[in-house]
Amino acid sequence: MDLNTLYRTVIMDNYKNPKNKGLTKSDDFHFVHLNNPSCGDEMNVEIKIKDGVIEKINQDGHGCSISMSSASVMSDVLVGKTVEEARKIINDFYEMVKGNDNIDEESLGEALAYMGVRQFPARIKCATLSWKAIEQAIEEVMENGEK
Ligand code: ZN
Repeated sequence: MDLNTLYRTVIMDNYKNPKNKGLTKSDDFHFVHLNNPSCGDEMNVEIKIKDGVIEKINQDGHGCSISMSSASVMSDVLVGKTVEEARKIINDFYEMVKGNDNIDEESLGEALAYMGVRQFPARIKCATLSWKAIEQAIEEVMENGEK
């Protein structure tokens, strides 16, 4: 499958059938909201980290297909990873959409589909919105302690 086909397939699949969609708003989770004014995307994420491992991510929001599908992919790719692994994957995702090819493709998994976003700089904020939200959530949990 070439990259453009992968890009369309992953975006459409995850937009139509989003993974981990819907928030529990329970005290077990740490919640972060971010928005992307340039496109009107609204993103909510919640995360549960236990013993340094991401146990569960839920996401919910509304906006364009790139931001919504990227949240679905993010919530799937990062689950089961340690905080350290997640930080590396998140950073690799940012580097990838900026155009850097020096990334660990294997750990990015389905998120590799967003490599094509580098051709559309206006959409980078759409693709990275949920990743910025979960990054903030992870760092807040690490600062304040796991729940
Ligand atoms: Zn957008």
